[in-house]
Amino acid sequence: MKKYKIVKKIIEKEELVKVTCDFCGSEFNESFIHYKAFGKINITFGYSSKYDFRTFEGEICDSCFEKLFKSKLRGHMWN
Ligand SMILES: [Zn+2]
Repeated sequence: MKKYKIVKKIIEKEELVKVTCDFCGSEFNESFIHYKAFGKINITFGYSSKYDFRTFEGEICDSCFEKLFKSKLRGHMWN
């Protein structure tokens, strides 16, 4: 037999409240943050490269992506 009692607990959790573009510093609006609509950069180098197994991460706005990466990278639709 199990017996339970009701307890009230305060649970703390992280909430994302501010995100900025790592290239131009512009701040994404609340809607972009809610839907995680900002670009995410993740570059990983392999063994024996100058950056041996290191990963670089960051956030990027649409404008900086178009200026710096769009024409140089392969794109895929997520569906
Ligand atoms: Zn930017």
